Amino acid sequence: MTFQDLNLNTPLYNALDDLGFTTPTPIQEESFSVVASGKDVVGIAQTGTGKTLAYMLPILRNLKFSKQDNPRVLVLVPTRELVVQVVSEIEKFSKYINNRVLGVYGGTNINTQKQAVAQGQDIIVATPGRLYDLAVSRVLQLKSIQKLVIDEVDVMLDLGFRHQLLNIFDILPPRRQNIMYSATMTKDVDDLITDFFKNPTKIAIAVSGTPLENIKQQRFDVPNFYTKVNLLEHLLRDKDNFSRVLIFVAYKKMADRLFDKLEELFPSETCVIHSNKTQNYRLRSIEQFREGENRLLVATDVMARGLDIEDVSHVINFDTPDYPENYMHRIGRTGRAEQEGHTILFSTETEQEGLERIEELMQMNIETLQIPEDVTISTELIEEERPQIRERNNPTKRRDEDAPGPAFHEKKEKNQKENLGGSYKFKIAAKYKKPKTRGDKNYNRRNKK
Ligand code: AMP
Repeated sequence: MTFQDLNLNTPLYNALDDLGFTTPTPIQEESFSVVASGKDVVGIAQTGTGKTLAYMLPILRNLKFSKQDNPRVLVLVPTRELVVQVVSEIEKFSKYINNRVLGVYGGTNINTQKQAVAQGQDIIVATPGRLYDLAVSRVLQLKSIQKLVIDEVDVMLDLGFRHQLLNIFDILPPRRQNIMYSATMTKDVDDLITDFFKNPTKIAIAVSGTPLENIKQQRFDVPNFYTKVNLLEHLLRDKDNFSRVLIFVAYKKMADRLFDKLEELFPSETCVIHSNKTQNYRLRSIEQFREGENRLLVATDVMARGLDIEDVSHVINFDTPDYPENYMHRIGRTGRAEQEGHTILFSTETEQEGLERIEELMQMNIETLQIPEDVTISTELIEEERPQIRERNNPTKRRDEDAPGPAFHEKKEKNQKENLGGSYKFKIAAKYKKPKTRGDKNYNRRNKK
């Protein structure tokens, strides 16, 4: 099948030609007629399979030129990075179409976005929080939305956006087409579909948990952090093969620690992204990696989900994820758009359980390689690897960096005040000698002495 077999129009064919796209990917082939038909659709497809174009082509094909200001298509995605990426994808395909596309996300000035919205838009790509704020401010009118796309629903629900999604559903016109894409099918996703979708057509091109076939997977058993670093250094010395490498770690502190090491070993070749880095820093890192300025990108799971970077030669799992789904997401960053990908997994002894879960989910064993002889096996341990000295009544605390933090949205200004609890109120009341009020239950308590 070629794109010529799909009922597109000249502006789209020209845009596809410019990009050199000739053949639709399987998810695009399957999605086109269903999305174009106006029915509700649920697509199960991993990132890298061309799913953005799968929903965008039929939408762009049917979007008529209009002068009206209110947007007609709404695309919701979980992260700011994905907003940027989807907007750029839509722009590429709209090269010969006269339509207006705007991306909005939190953590940036809302007034600039309000002005852009007020100029009139056809397609809005947004993260749920900011979209809702704009809608509530009434600058953004959603009454003309005909098509709602929710991309990466599994990630969205994972990050706790369910409530925000429901709020948005509430203010959307009930007569609309719902289009949803998810990499994995989870119970949460299933519930959402049952509650809000009308007999959706399901399109699945890969069973959840099945790795893309064109990814070569290998693994090493490695005793500890420093040996992992030595092995990684050994691999990365082969610059021809390891030409664009995405390195995953589980948490922020580890990302910084590994970044520091790599910066020593391969100066000016490494960048890092995690949710403690500012939006600008993250975008810059991704850009430098994408442009090939930096060969190595260290990333945490949440940050790297949905990243679209082409030609990643290798995904290295510096640690073994506890959740096998995260492994699937990680390795989906290589072997994109039907190119050959390569992934390598490092596991310590304590990570063997995670490894078992991954292999169970995939129903296959990953090929195990021996650590090459010239890699030094270190005996030095990092803080987390040292045996925990458990004092009585002093249980080991959870690592702070593991605490669920504000991953994507900087707090809104009004929420940035610290909650000082009741005591602040009492202090102020005492200072200004507020009179006793009815219902002030603590009056007696405070004035006992
Ligand atoms: P996605 O799964 O939407 O993140 O897309 C993965 C990448 O594949 C993007 O960089 C697309 O531009 C690219 N792509 C999508 N469809 C095709 C196609 N039919 N032929 C070649 N590349 C494609």
